[in-house]
Order: sequence, then C-alpha cells, then structure tokens
Amino acid sequence: MEIRILRGAEVRALLPMAECVELMRRTMIAVSEGRARVPLRSVMVMPDDVGMMGAMPGYLADPSCFGIKLVSLFPRNHGSQFSSHLGLVLLFETEHGQPVAMLDAAEITAIRTAAASGLASDLLARPDAGDLAILGAGEQAQSHLAAMLAVRPLRRIRIWTRDPAKAAAFAEAEGARHGATIEPIATVQAAVAGADLICTVTMAREPILLGEWVAPGAHLNVVGSSIASTAEIDTPLVARARYFVDYRESTVNEAGEYLRAVKAGAITPEHILAEIGAVANGTKAGRLTGEDVTIYKSLGIAAQDLASAHYVLQKAKAQGVGQTVDF
Ligand code: NDP
Repeated sequence: MEIRILRGAEVRALLPMAECVELMRRTMIAVSEGRARVPLRSVMVMPDDVGMMGAMPGYLADPSCFGIKLVSLFPRNHGSQFSSHLGLVLLFETEHGQPVAMLDAAEITAIRTAAASGLASDLLARPDAGDLAILGAGEQAQSHLAAMLAVRPLRRIRIWTRDPAKAAAFAEAEGARHGATIEPIATVQAAVAGADLICTVTMAREPILLGEWVAPGAHLNVVGSSIASTAEIDTPLVARARYFVDYRESTVNEAGEYLRAVKAGAITPEHILAEIGAVANGTKAGRLTGEDVTIYKSLGIAAQDLASAHYVLQKAKAQGVGQTVDF
C-alpha cells in the first residue's frame, strides 16, 4: 500500500485559484445532482474554549474516491506562525478501500473555500461587480481576494478588520502580491458602503454586518463563523437577500445566521432558494435583477476537500511531486 504525502506548499503550487474555481463548479454540480455523499461533520469542542476538532467524511462518484478531512480549529493561532485550521485530508480509492494520499488540510481549506465563493460570485454577482469589501484579514481573507480577482476585474478593494494595524498590514502585503491598491477601512459600515462584492471571513460570534449598510445589487459570500452558535450578519440582511447555500442539509443544521433568522420568524426554510450547484447546472435561477442582494452561505463540505485532494494527487503523480511511503 503506497501513500503519497503532499505538503502545504505542494498543494498550493498544484491548485491554482482559477483551476480550483472550475473544479468547484464541477464538484458543486455533482453534489446538487446527488453524485456525492456528504454526511454532516462531527465537531468535538475542547474544554475552556481552547479549540475544536472537526471530522468531515465524504464520498464522490466521479472522480471515484472517498475520504475524510480531520481538522483542528484553534482561533488563538491567528497572527502566529500557525494556521487556525490545521489538519489532514486523507484520500482513499474505491476499488479496495486503500488510503492513497495524505495532504495538508490548511492549504486545501483556504483554497477550496475561496474557490467555491469565487464560483458563487461568478454565478450570482452582477456582471459589472468590481467594488470589493473584505471583512476579516486572516487566511480566508487572503484566499478570497485571490478568488474574487479570478472571477471579476476589480476596480476597488477595501479591507476591514478589528485591529486597524492588521488591516493596514494586509493592504500592504496583499496589494504588493497582486499589484493592486487595497484600502484599509476603519469601520464595517464604511468598508461596505456602495460595495457590490462583499466577503465576510471573520470569526465573529455576533453580527458585525447589518443589512441597512449593504447597497442594492450587492453579492455577499458569508463564510466565517461557520458553526450554529455564531453569526456574522444580522437577520434583516438574511431576510432581504436571495439566499443560496453550498449544501442545504448543512445549512439547516449548522448555519448560525440562517438558524437565527428562522428562530426570529423572519424566514422559513423556503428562503433557501437553491444550492449553488443547482444554479451552476442551470436548473435554478440565481440573481433576477440588478437590484437584488444575493447571499452565498458557505459552511464548507467534504466533497470540496476530496475533489481538491484528488485533483492535486493526479497532478502530483504526473509531476513526481510529494513523498511516497510504503505501508
Ligand atoms: P484566521 O484565524 O486566519 O482569521 C480570523 C479573522 O477573524 C481575523 O481577521 C480576526 O480579526 C477575525 N476575528 C476574530 N474574532 C473576531 C470577532 N469577534 N469579530 C470580528 N472579527 C474577528 O481564520 P481564517 O481566515 O482561516 O477563517 C476565518 C473564518 O472562516 C473562521 O470563522 C472559520 O471558521 C471560517 N471558515 C469557513 C470555512 C467554510 O468552508 N465556510 C472554511 C474555513 C474557515 P483580527 O485580524 O482583528 O484579529
């Protein structure tokens, strides 16, 4: 039994953002057409709010594979040399059930999450959208900037995070990386004023973004705070938007903003208009008018991790990248 081990830098080199957006298009269509199995993840919370561990198993029919992502979430790692999401994606083949690869989960998570938001933005944002606001300045903020650049020409980029020094550092580093001007902004309200692409990628536990601040026509990728007890945006914003999700079953169980809005009586389950895969394959409508506010609620699913791992593994084999271990 031979297992290929792929480090974070190798994953990054083999999974460019634009390629991953197209991979997510195929993957999310497969999910919405029932060609994947994605059980709800299980989460173990550690005592004293230290962190948590998630186990996300899944199966894909095409490419035929299954596996699991095991990932720890340690919020205290933000700003240190460690990612806040550390772990492994273990990929198995479906002929004999052998594990075939073990990949760094931090890179896969950063890239596939943003790539799925890139797909959603491509499908739901106005064709002329190009005024981007990013709330949060961590790893997902970085990868979401790359994803938004992959799907729309951006004419303006604003960044907000709690600590103005971190917003300024992000603007400088990422502006240099992409050859773009990024404006650090002091308040959420000013950061989103007039924006037509908004990515919320924070660990906020209570809403930081209010619906009244969001301009008509905006598309939002609501990505952070991805557990049932937390919410980045308020109920009026959820209720006002045409609401799309990555996976309906995880939304109704795990999406904090959605659950709060249902509990408040502001929406019913019919408010979920479609999974993004059903918009991508043309069976469900996305944006109807230029004035619609659209939301893509991302929780992340194992199908995205497995498809990315399989894709990276095929390229790694062809290029002789990674280390192999005989078990
Ligand atoms: P990082 O640790 O790299 O960054 C966290 C960011 O959240 C920082 O900008 C930090 O702000 C900000 N933040 C922390 N607490 C608060 C708060 N109370 N209010 C406002 N901002 C806050 O994390 P990632 O970028 O990797 O992840 C960001 C979020 O995305 C997390 O909630 C994570 O669980 C979620 N996520 C979702 C995925 C999905 O598939 N939907 C996949 C992976 C992650 P500051 O800079 O000021 O410290």
